[in-house]
Amino acid sequence: MAKATVKPVVGVDLGGTKILAAVVDGENKILSRFKKRTKLEGGPEGLTERICQAVEGALVTAKLTPADVAAIGVGAAGPTDTAAGVVVTMPNLGIENLPLGKRLTDRFSVPARIENDVNCGTIAECRLGAGKGAADVLGVFPGTGIGGGILVGGTLLRGRNQAAAEIGHTVIDPNGPLCACGVHGCLEAYASRLAIVRDIAAAVGRGEASIAGEYIRPDGTNRLRSKALARGVTEGDKVITDVLERAARMLGEAIGSAINLLGCELVILGGGVTEALGSWLVNRVAAAAEKRALKIAFKGVRIVQASLGDDAICLGAALLAREALAENK
Ligand SMILES: [Zn+2]
Repeated sequence: MAKATVKPVVGVDLGGTKILAAVVDGENKILSRFKKRTKLEGGPEGLTERICQAVEGALVTAKLTPADVAAIGVGAAGPTDTAAGVVVTMPNLGIENLPLGKRLTDRFSVPARIENDVNCGTIAECRLGAGKGAADVLGVFPGTGIGGGILVGGTLLRGRNQAAAEIGHTVIDPNGPLCACGVHGCLEAYASRLAIVRDIAAAVGRGEASIAGEYIRPDGTNRLRSKALARGVTEGDKVITDVLERAARMLGEAIGSAINLLGCELVILGGGVTEALGSWLVNRVAAAAEKRALKIAFKGVRIVQASLGDDAICLGAALLAREALAENK
């Protein structure tokens, strides 16, 4: 680290199924990664401990101590209160008002920045990835849930209660399935990985033939992940492709409406589902969005796949943590 003039920062992706911590240097290069499963056991304290273990794991892997880093940034899968350093809610995990920033600062003695995960992913893609140079951007990341991030003139749109850009909770059908947020018929209740897997499992339960049956055990254990979905598409599995076709159409319709509202120039599709399905998903989402959007609003709009993969949220959390340090100086 002889020539390093800027201390590294730790970026953490706090998702519904995994916690990924990465040490990121001053040139936004990742020096180390450490992954842990997100578990419900132990409640907020258990989750906080696992986040700390992921940060420690990334530091140890990079042969660093907390004193070697300038800050920790966290991208959490839910609305956050960045000024207070609080994860306001992660509905899929039953987390409410978790003062994660203070906990991390107490533990590691460095400033901690808590942000929404897809805000982080969208910022990272626009600075370092598929959205370089774009100023008016909508990021949509279907994974366990469906997160959104909006850049207006290059600046994150946070909104009155820092809950802007929650495109996953756009209501598609008020009589639809119950969403984790408590409302019926949100986009997320149709097109998130959890919803996709739910619908595929239901078809398998009805006796429809599908390779998905290999991933769902009689005891109810379900190992259907994004990679299995991609396999279903490649092999032309009817159950899997039907459910995914519908999810893609609904994503595209919600995005088309959002383009009408925002007038963005670029839509970035990220998250685990997009990474696994690639252009198969992006093309279908783009076609559905074009059908739904006004011609004038859609003209010249690009819909692209994120390019930073699993690192996007860690990198964005690190970028925003570094920006916060600069602002406070
Ligand atoms: Zn919802």
